[in-house]
Amino acid sequence: MSALSIPNRRRGWCPGVRRPMETGDGLLVRLHPFGGRLTANQARLIAEAAGKFGNGHLDVTARGNLQIRGVNDEIYPALLALLESEGLAEPEGDGPNRLTAVSPLAGLDPHDRFDALVLAEAIESETVSVDGLPAKFFVAVDGGGSMPLDAIGADLHLAAEGGDTVAFSTASADGPRNIGTCSLKRAPAAATSIVSGFARMRREGRTEAGRLRDLAPELVREIVEQAGLEPPAVPPQRPVPQRAGVFQTRSGKAVLLALTFGRCSSDQLEQAAHWSKRFGNGEIHFSFTRGILLPGIADRDASTLIAEASRAGFITEASDSRLSFLACPGKPDCANALVAAPADASRLAGTCGDLLPQGTTVHVSGCPKGCAHPGRADLTLVGRADGRYDIVPNGTARDVSSLHLSIDEIMNRLLPNAAELRRAFPERMR
Ligand code: SF4
Repeated sequence: MSALSIPNRRRGWCPGVRRPMETGDGLLVRLHPFGGRLTANQARLIAEAAGKFGNGHLDVTARGNLQIRGVNDEIYPALLALLESEGLAEPEGDGPNRLTAVSPLAGLDPHDRFDALVLAEAIESETVSVDGLPAKFFVAVDGGGSMPLDAIGADLHLAAEGGDTVAFSTASADGPRNIGTCSLKRAPAAATSIVSGFARMRREGRTEAGRLRDLAPELVREIVEQAGLEPPAVPPQRPVPQRAGVFQTRSGKAVLLALTFGRCSSDQLEQAAHWSKRFGNGEIHFSFTRGILLPGIADRDASTLIAEASRAGFITEASDSRLSFLACPGKPDCANALVAAPADASRLAGTCGDLLPQGTTVHVSGCPKGCAHPGRADLTLVGRADGRYDIVPNGTARDVSSLHLSIDEIMNRLLPNAAELRRAFPERMR
């Protein structure tokens, strides 16, 4: 067993099983299963562990990882030993705990043009010994189907285009920025070349960029050239991924259960594990949309599962107004938090949620780090030290704002539709 000593568990890094992070409610232990997938038995074990070793709260993250909250220092070694014995601890080292992220439908989606799981596995195995990657670096592998990974904020985004072509993109505030293309056959080698090239530039001191998006344009051109990418193509417009409900897959249906602000209780996870065995194929896929996908559901069972899940507190309808709101743990659960983001988001959802047009996104962030949503939202509220919020229309939690309002003032301004929402905050804020 190996874990960092308590004084080394600094806040603000990328936590894992061996590298827990101190938060306002104790240690946070993040698991990074490949593809965001667990067996129902593993999920049940983790649910029990979250109740026994933590405070019973779990989060599904915006990369489809799973974190146990509220673990205290004395009991953490026992949790680590349990997760190690189940093969759920990441490898030792300083690099990314998990290099790739995929759709929860990867391998099942009839609209995918390639199997993202296979490509992700190839990239992971070819880059396993690359030294010098920042812990937060990750590659999104997107088969081009029903659940686009455009908003996930990956350093490198590989997405299926027409025919046999894979588009390579880097993250930007406006979504993925295409840097080149290659054939599917060449994609693992090209991705490995880019990942290795970036790490080498860091090792050689040619850049201090922690993310590929921050790399100087001439260095991006250099690694694109080394990877042998063809000129970029105009990426197709893709839909916003559905965040709850039923999907048709290659083998039956899959039901995506959304979690309010990405959080569930140990009882809910245990219940999901139970449904996976009773109705599904014994697997659980965690979704970057911060929900739990249960695959292999027979047509006749989907409505029963949805009715039971709805009663158990899961969001089962894509039109549910709570899905408009994104919030991080905030106060008191995160030590960095300046405001009680989930409580305020709940107030907003309860009061104004039904008035917002479907698809509107409101991101309530406890601080400028913006953990719950790295990309743009229609409205972003960023907690401030004075307890008010910075107001950022059509921007991210990192954007600068000159309008600061209390949650009561914000609620008074929110009006029934998108145009009025924009008119409610007319000030030029950036
Ligand atoms: S965004 Fe939220 S969860 Fe992330 S550090 Fe800030 S307060 Fe904590």
